[in-house]
Amino acid sequence: MRLSLVADLHIHTTASDGTYTPEEIVSLARREGITTIAITDHDSVDNVLSTMRVGAEQGVQVVSGIELSTEMDLAELHLLGYGFSVDDPLLTDQLGYLRVARLERIAKTVDLLAELGIHLDLEEVLALAGDGSPGRAHVARLLVDKGYTSTIAEGFDRFLGHGQRAYVPRDRCHTIDAIRLIRRAGGVPVLAHPGLSAPGLSCLPELVKAGLMGLEVFYPQHSPEQKARFLELAAQYGLLVTGGSDCHGGGKDQRYFGSVRLPDHCVQCLLAAVPTHTT
Ligand code: AMP
Ligand code: FE
Ligand code: FE
Ligand code: ZN
Repeated sequence: MRLSLVADLHIHTTASDGTYTPEEIVSLARREGITTIAITDHDSVDNVLSTMRVGAEQGVQVVSGIELSTEMDLAELHLLGYGFSVDDPLLTDQLGYLRVARLERIAKTVDLLAELGIHLDLEEVLALAGDGSPGRAHVARLLVDKGYTSTIAEGFDRFLGHGQRAYVPRDRCHTIDAIRLIRRAGGVPVLAHPGLSAPGLSCLPELVKAGLMGLEVFYPQHSPEQKARFLELAAQYGLLVTGGSDCHGGGKDQRYFGSVRLPDHCVQCLLAAVPTHTT
């Protein structure tokens, strides 16, 4: 009898604003009895191959993954991609461009904070991001470290969140282009956490027409009613059902790895759709 599969398909690592390394993620998966994972860093695939290598050594199945920040009708939509080729040239180009856009945005954020009397050193923010893709979460962490705020959430509520005084819009790719990018790289595009981005559902028919293949139904902040509705929508549009914890690490303000476990039949359907780029 084959073992049933249990997956967490939404995990951030040190390649973006998560705190766990690939080694730590794989060892947590083993400890929690999770058989299949995908790391989905914001606009980065830098840790995918190393996670696949460690996963192969330790018996954890790893599917290539990413979470792209995209824009549709002026709203931010997050698009997950699974099972694509990490060295696809178009994807590599787009990620290089997004990395520069992120750097420029963080520099502007630091300038705006300075105008508010909050003096952070850009180099310190970038050091927190290390080799990973820098984001507002790194700024929020430094605000806590320097005693300007008590929690990461407070940093977003007071300064960094959409519409707050140090919020800087940034260049994002259009959701439809991002769907096509993932498809062209051989992967499965999935709309992330639709419960957090209401515009996502009104655009669903358009996204499906453009090639969207899945909906992230299982997610910590989705209520039972939302899950039921998203399952119905997935069935109506013939979409794969995915899910994950959106774990960013182990500290406070962070959701814990494995808090969402995608059931066997959903994992099987996803794996059937991505025969390659999975260890
Ligand atoms: P960015 O990619 O730079 O736009 O930053 C977005 C990331 O910041 C999200 O993926 C979360 O990790 C984090 N984030 C956004 N809002 C909050 C919040 N209210 N509290 C804690 N983290 C947040
Ligand atoms: Fe994040
Ligand atoms: Fe997201
Ligand atoms: Zn995420």
